[in-house]
Amino acid sequence: MKTIFDKSNKTDGINLTDSTDKIDFLPENLLRTREVGLPQVSELDVMRHYKELSDLNFCIENGFYPLGSCTMKYNPKVNEFLSSLEEFNIHPETCDGSAQGSLKLMYDLQKALLEVTGMDAITLQPSAGAHGELTGMMIIKKYFDIKGENRTKVIIPDSAHGTNPASAKMAGFDIVEIKSNNKGQVDIESLKAVLNDDVAAIMMTNPNTLGIFEENVKEISDLMHANGSLLYYDGANFNAIMGYTNPKLMGFDVVHLNLHKTFSTPHGGGGPGAGVVAVNDKLKDYLPKPVINFDGQKYFRNYDVKFSIGSVKDYFGNFSVLVKAYAYILLMGKNLKNATENAVLNANYLKEKLKKYYNLPYDEPCMHEFVITGEKQKEENGISTLNIAKALMDKNTHPPTVYFPLIVHEALMIEPTESENKEVLDEFINTMIEIANECKTNPQDVLEAPHLTPVKKIDEVTAARHPDLCYKG
Ligand SMILES: *Cc1c(COP(=O)(O)O)cnc(C)c1O
Repeated sequence: MKTIFDKSNKTDGINLTDSTDKIDFLPENLLRTREVGLPQVSELDVMRHYKELSDLNFCIENGFYPLGSCTMKYNPKVNEFLSSLEEFNIHPETCDGSAQGSLKLMYDLQKALLEVTGMDAITLQPSAGAHGELTGMMIIKKYFDIKGENRTKVIIPDSAHGTNPASAKMAGFDIVEIKSNNKGQVDIESLKAVLNDDVAAIMMTNPNTLGIFEENVKEISDLMHANGSLLYYDGANFNAIMGYTNPKLMGFDVVHLNLHKTFSTPHGGGGPGAGVVAVNDKLKDYLPKPVINFDGQKYFRNYDVKFSIGSVKDYFGNFSVLVKAYAYILLMGKNLKNATENAVLNANYLKEKLKKYYNLPYDEPCMHEFVITGEKQKEENGISTLNIAKALMDKNTHPPTVYFPLIVHEALMIEPTESENKEVLDEFINTMIEIANECKTNPQDVLEAPHLTPVKKIDEVTAARHPDLCYKG
């Protein structure tokens, strides 16, 4: 058998013995006397191995991925090409004069994002939605510090994304949770009951995580402002309203957007993102520095931001994400609002078709996503939402978000996104109906799903309590 120590093995990958350097600085007793036992494989073998592993992944390129609140949509491949252009591959320490192209891109992107949000100033620094939330809450904190008001509380509806209370807490606030009403919206009376001089802000997602538009948003913003408080808008899923309305019109003071959801950067698995934060005039002096400005001749990083909270990310931020967002916006042009239209249409189509088969806790028109439940299946057939999610994996479909939002039992949160066509949606509807039928006719099969994935049903308790992370061939 050939080994990597075999000089004749030239064509099959790297030969570690090629080095002519003498290793004479190590003591004799530390030198290896036997072969290391590295895998005896060629480059082709290695490539096939990793390709096979990557084929075990499920991604948007494999099939439908209706993961609620995550906007797992198709992201044009041309964006990847553009973001890897040599011209954008600049050294982090490049001075403004030599980075005019990149700075112009950032400046123009800022302008476009200000237009869609309606806001007055923006930072592109934060590298995720949650990071944007923290930045926004730090801005609000500093705003009241400078004003000399000691406001310690932030109000958050019980339907909020989990990152909202976490971010507000990290910025030093105490959280006050308020209930949703029977329409799945902020309960105005509950809000009034907790409003006082301690309240710095409310953090809202609109549409909320049930996919429902808060119809009292104007009343809420009037109430908050009359109380001297501010409003934070979680705009992670901006494809719900983009081009139709904006947070400024609704009365918000701060908003973050997830460029890696709405503006077409593939995400998941902790890849780079951008959670840009836009503010109104009231808060523009508090943005992280530097902000990107233009003096009529050149683009520059402006460090002169009066009450800046400081910097929240080095250098140019996650620049490749900014390039993708910019390319996407230019590509869409005035049709940006079509994305919103299709996202909302697709979600309502699925909701109407599925509500005969699954319980729909809030039967309201939805925006970009909606929530159904597995309660009927649980009651009638002893099958939980988790089982339904696993059964979907056998049918080449990524399961929706499950057990969130927390206010809905057995929740399945479905977001088809704008990029799927009617055939795919119809296929998903049929798949969901098929599973609903199997719950009645062959419940054991659903309980034991998935059957076709490389790893079958996982004992989640043991996996969490006694993780075995060691690969043994
Ligand atoms: C995804 C999401 C977030 C968090 O964004 P990350 O980039 O994952 O930190 C916050 N709020 C809502 C509503 C979201 O959907």
